[in-house]
Amino acid sequence: MTPTQLTPVAIAHTPFAEKFAIPRQPMLAPAATAIIELLPPYDQPEALDGLQGISHIWLLFQFHQVAQDTAPRLKVRPPRLGGNRSVGVFASRSTHRPNGIGQSVVKLERIEGHRLWVSGVDLLDGTPIIDIKPYVPYSDSIAGAYNDIAPHAPDSIRVEWSDEALSQAGKEELRLQQPVKALIEQCLAQDPKPAYQNPAPERRYGVQLWDINVTWHYPEAETIRVLSVSPADKRAE
Ligand code: SAH
Repeated sequence: MTPTQLTPVAIAHTPFAEKFAIPRQPMLAPAATAIIELLPPYDQPEALDGLQGISHIWLLFQFHQVAQDTAPRLKVRPPRLGGNRSVGVFASRSTHRPNGIGQSVVKLERIEGHRLWVSGVDLLDGTPIIDIKPYVPYSDSIAGAYNDIAPHAPDSIRVEWSDEALSQAGKEELRLQQPVKALIEQCLAQDPKPAYQNPAPERRYGVQLWDINVTWHYPEAETIRVLSVSPADKRAE
């Protein structure tokens, strides 16, 4: 078959400058707001006509920052299964897939010119969006659907704050109308570290969300303590 070429219709501006600490599916962190900026020729009101009455949209996108596989992967190890069980690529949402296409359903908060404000994203900043489609409740929501590999949302873990980090987070206030504190809490509650790691309390972790650096540790299993929240020098590209 002839290879297909895809041209992005939009670009996502999201809190996630790096893959670490991105929720593993959309809607797990409602405070993860983003702007989907439409690109020409789709950056016109005509292309968005009707979206005003639609609460959620599907984003189809390119996993543009995945290391190229040397050979096609037929089986993958989803982080969800602790990285020690493999399943067929088509039974997983792994980023390592034949054409590197991702799909995420997100909440459409509002439309401003050629920009869509959305929330609940699981996309890296700069992700090329190759199509946008309306969520259609009567068809996309299926009563009685099941998935034995991912039967329910991942368990979240406890996130507590050091006094210093809490007051620093308070000073940072909002990004795209969402409190930075909620974004940090929701992303960390997903427990970003790989499932197989069992870190000592001294081990420090860190991530950049928007223009903010966050560090934390695990004082005990299943508990995260946020240690610091500070302005990042510059946005990592
Ligand atoms: N909801 C999507 C994505 C699931 S995988 C789907 O089902 O297709 C989610 C992971 O994709 C995130 O945790 C993040 O690490 C990774 N990711 C997000 N955007 C990416 C991008 N542009 N390139 C590579 N990986 C990305």
